[in-house]
Amino acid sequence: MIRPGKMIKQVLQSLFMKPATLLYPFKKSPMPEHFRGEIIFHPELCIGCQMCVRDCPSRAIKIKKTEDNKFEAEIDLGKCIYCAQCVMSCPKKALESTKEFELAVLDKSKLKIIFSADPKKSSDSQKTP
Ligand code: SF4
Ligand code: SF4
Repeated sequence: MIRPGKMIKQVLQSLFMKPATLLYPFKKSPMPEHFRGEIIFHPELCIGCQMCVRDCPSRAIKIKKTEDNKFEAEIDLGKCIYCAQCVMSCPKKALESTKEFELAVLDKSKLKIIFSADPKKSSDSQKTP
């Protein structure tokens, strides 16, 4: 049984202690160094070797050759398990694992992200360099 004196001491200590939790989403915790979040594609580096497609365990990535002989990627974030295998397999560092994890959407089709050298074709121009 906790004695009242000890209890008051603990209550007073708790009042002045830093909270153990964060007021998410208003305050965000920095992600660890090797956190594997959203995958992004750098079209200018891709050579179309398809190594990422071959190694993806979820079949979440497609690489297509475009008319102007460049490559674009379609990454289905609904299928992706954020293992970053594609990043490790890519010989040209054209894929990158980011720290972005806030990816929830109401419309599932919005999880298919197209990264193209042509900003008009990209589904999210901010994600295309
Ligand atoms: S992170 Fe893993 S699951 Fe997602 S696209 Fe890359 S290889 Fe596929
Ligand atoms: S592994 Fe890299 S270079 Fe090869 S197709 Fe995939 S993104 Fe392009």
